[in-house]
Amino acid sequence: MSQEFDALVIGMGQAGPSLAARLSSAGMKVAVLEEDKFGGTCVNNGCTPTKAMVASAYAAHLARRSGEYGVIAQGTPRVDMKRVKARKDAIVQKSRDGLESWMTGLKGATVYRGHARFVGPSEVQVGAEKLRAERIFLNVGGRALVPQMPGLETVPYLTNVTMMDLDFVPEHLVVVGGSYVGLEFAQMFRRFGSRVTVVEMGPRVVAREDEDVSLEIQRFLGDEGIQLRLHAECITVQKESDGFSLGLDCKDGAPRVTGTHLLLAVGRVPNTDDLGLDVAGVKTDKRGYVEVDEALRTTNPKVWALGDCNGKGAFTHTAYNDYEIVAGNLLSNAGRKHSDRIPVYALYTDPPLGRVGLSEREIKEKGIKALVGKRPMSRVARAVEKGETNGFLKIHVEQGTRRILGAALLGVGADESVQSILDAVYAGMPYSEFQRHVRIHPTVSELLPTVMEDLSPLD
Ligand SMILES: Cc1cc2nc3c(=O)[nH]c(=O)nc-3n(C[C@H](O)[C@H](O)[C@H](O)COP(=O)(O)OP(=O)(O)OC[C@H]3O[C@@H](n4cnc5c(N)ncnc54)[C@H](O)[C@@H]3O)c2cc1C
Repeated sequence: MSQEFDALVIGMGQAGPSLAARLSSAGMKVAVLEEDKFGGTCVNNGCTPTKAMVASAYAAHLARRSGEYGVIAQGTPRVDMKRVKARKDAIVQKSRDGLESWMTGLKGATVYRGHARFVGPSEVQVGAEKLRAERIFLNVGGRALVPQMPGLETVPYLTNVTMMDLDFVPEHLVVVGGSYVGLEFAQMFRRFGSRVTVVEMGPRVVAREDEDVSLEIQRFLGDEGIQLRLHAECITVQKESDGFSLGLDCKDGAPRVTGTHLLLAVGRVPNTDDLGLDVAGVKTDKRGYVEVDEALRTTNPKVWALGDCNGKGAFTHTAYNDYEIVAGNLLSNAGRKHSDRIPVYALYTDPPLGRVGLSEREIKEKGIKALVGKRPMSRVARAVEKGETNGFLKIHVEQGTRRILGAALLGVGADESVQSILDAVYAGMPYSEFQRHVRIHPTVSELLPTVMEDLSPLD
């Protein structure tokens, strides 16, 4: 016999908890299902712990540079990785515990722990229990992709999950994958004191970004002593007495890289392979992402997919927005769509990259006639005063309409300043209007209108 519910919420990531709470406050009988830790990737081994560790790495970096600011710190700064980890763990634990007690205390909700799998179009099994509902919500997220690399089975390797357990500074960390996750770990561990080599298969890091963005990131990471090995088209792994070596079919540099610790950061896969989706008539694409319509409904009209598992976003804010869309449509007939969202995200290197809207590459691919304004951070007063002048501000506008199309802000505070451009893009505001708004001095944001004073046609 199945237990009957109004709604099943599978996965307690970034959409599930808020959705469960909203449905229960609307009077529904809700089952909450989680197989591992409450909070999913973001809370346990993604955003929260990495940003806590980025903060420790920044403190180490600034301590080493303290003399530049006229501050005499006695002796050479040292990193106590046990304390870095303890600080990070405490932040994570508080967040996870908060979520867990929220869910276990939810009126009208029952929490089930274990792996959930469909056994029918409206029925799910978790442990020995069978649960039925007319509305089932998947928020199952994703995990690190482990690539097929010859010899990988002969050596231990780390992912974003096991990196969280390190309470020592690896002697030589080799990061395979020069994209968002890989670069954040690379810079933080370099600042903790590791030798760091980033091995990237493509011709540049963060290849989704414009070339000038990649090159500037490569420059400042190189200045910190991070070795970059690009064009590593064919990677093989070999165990060595004191670690491992990677064979690289690289165009530049020696064909082998040795290291003591190996981090794989080459992408993510959705947790949809062991959900019994075929039994429920829920289709996935070739890469395993659940197919959804604009309202995030799957090919089974009683099942919705939210967050990373639907392939419509790969961020906490997109997962949370999925919750807002689904809840708004179900409970308030809001008519919301995931395609209404404007792409926005940050890469938390130091300085960070804040990205919104179309990139230069996308603008060219679409054949849009556009203008570009660009200013180095060395000409931004706030950056000069802070002694952090790496990066640049770059904004694109449409030639005829003067609409802001997008921006790549790479510089101190860019994860915050990019949001002012985001609001203008949502408002469809012409840049001439944006320029009339008076901003606080000295900030990075005050220079955004100035960047738009020197617009030139995109070639
Ligand atoms: C290192 C790293 C850093 C990141 N930093 C950022 C950042 O700074 N900002 C940002 O916006 N994003 C960041 N992200 C991405 C962000 O973590 C994800 O986009 C976000 O967590 C997606 O949330 P979700 O709700 O889709 O899934 P998840 O958070 O992955 O949660 C899914 C949950 O479902 C559970 N589950 C899975 N299958 C089942 C099942 N069959 N039965 C029961 N439970 C199940 C899992 O245990 C998990 O708890 C980062 C990711 C990584 C890896």
